[in-house]
Amino acid sequence: MQRAGARPIYLDYHATTPLDARVLEAMLPWLREDFGNASSQTHSYGWRAEAAVEESRERLAAAIGAAEPEEIVFTSGATESNNLALCGAFAANARGGAGGAGGVAGGAGQGVSSKSGAPEGAGGAAQIVTVATEHPAVLEPCAALAKQGAAVTVLPVNSEGLVSPADVAAAIGEATVLVSVMAANGEIGTLQPLAEIGRIAAERDVLFHCDAAQAVGKIPLDVQALGIDLLSFSAHKLYGPKGIGALYIRRRRRNGRRLRLAPLLHGGGQQRGLRPGTLPTPLCVGFARAAELACAERPAEAQRLTELRTLFESTLRAALPGVQIERNGPPPGPQRLPGNLNLGIEGAPADALLPRLKDLALSTGSACSSATPEPSPVLQACGHPKERIHRALRLALGRPTTEQEVLTAAQRLAEEAAKLREG
Ligand SMILES: *Cc1c(COP(=O)(O)O)cnc(C)c1O
Repeated sequence: MQRAGARPIYLDYHATTPLDARVLEAMLPWLREDFGNASSQTHSYGWRAEAAVEESRERLAAAIGAAEPEEIVFTSGATESNNLALCGAFAANARGGAGGAGGVAGGAGQGVSSKSGAPEGAGGAAQIVTVATEHPAVLEPCAALAKQGAAVTVLPVNSEGLVSPADVAAAIGEATVLVSVMAANGEIGTLQPLAEIGRIAAERDVLFHCDAAQAVGKIPLDVQALGIDLLSFSAHKLYGPKGIGALYIRRRRRNGRRLRLAPLLHGGGQQRGLRPGTLPTPLCVGFARAAELACAERPAEAQRLTELRTLFESTLRAALPGVQIERNGPPPGPQRLPGNLNLGIEGAPADALLPRLKDLALSTGSACSSATPEPSPVLQACGHPKERIHRALRLALGRPTTEQEVLTAAQRLAEEAAKLREG
């Protein structure tokens, strides 16, 4: 049992991660003496901050395979990045949208701003194609755009949470502006077939946005190889600080045209007007350092987490002989995020189990929706029955997770599940 005052074992690394000590170290000078405003052009305080921000952009661009540092726009997190990508692309590219006057990313394109058979020319509302298992930070902006007249197509997934590229291709029409498909699902670990979707988006000449908040630093990710035009990611999911994220905005599209995006905010013109506001230099530096570390250590860490994940499951199964344990999401392997588990124990509903496990910090669904009694929309989209959804426990292992923690957690979970089943 939990010692008095001891902290629960943290098993919720998809909700957020602690700041890596090396990241904090990199941030400290920018929180202390180097406090300048990166937009101050008249003195060295500003110049130093500007150089630090630009170097951070370079490191982040390198982490995702972007061609140029200017393709990175800092935001407050993946939620804002998703909103900028979806609402910004809709406003700039939908018929009658404000795009022409709005902010333009990667302005050095060929300057051709419309295309034959383009959404703005075609009949019907501009369309956005997305997937049922997306994070609320994608689905909610889509719902808001639908109220503004967008036609939003939400594609289904199979029982493992995978979207079919053929369904994506079939959903794209003359009026399609953008396809938004996440890289990795933080609830069931599903990795979507990004390369195939990227090929389809390029062939059909629509924008491809990817919410990669759970993917950067965890799986190999290269925006150019995958044909991604817009990519959202966030520092606090990869052992960086909370309050900063980025949107990658491709400068040169395959068709030679520039990618147009309207800003959400209007202000002092920072980041070429696309996302104005004073840049938080310490957060930019920390984000870049965190992404750099996560990518450098990724292969070994992914292997370690995969082994710990296997250990967790085998320990749990060994401690509950004869008890059916459901695995939600894809089998461990190339289609699943390392370190992610989503399990259901026969006869042990999650809402009865969790209060008995105060010594473990885990969740029943996405952190954003687990406060509501609604059954997980992700597991619903997988077609699971209500009882199975009510059993589902989401565990995420992370950088600080030790073998001892995994053994203790699996045994404690088995112990309380057994008691619950007997009682
Ligand atoms: C956490 C998360 C978000 C939200 O990111 P914030 O930086 O907290 O705004 C969006 N999408 C996915 C897939 C996430 O996991």
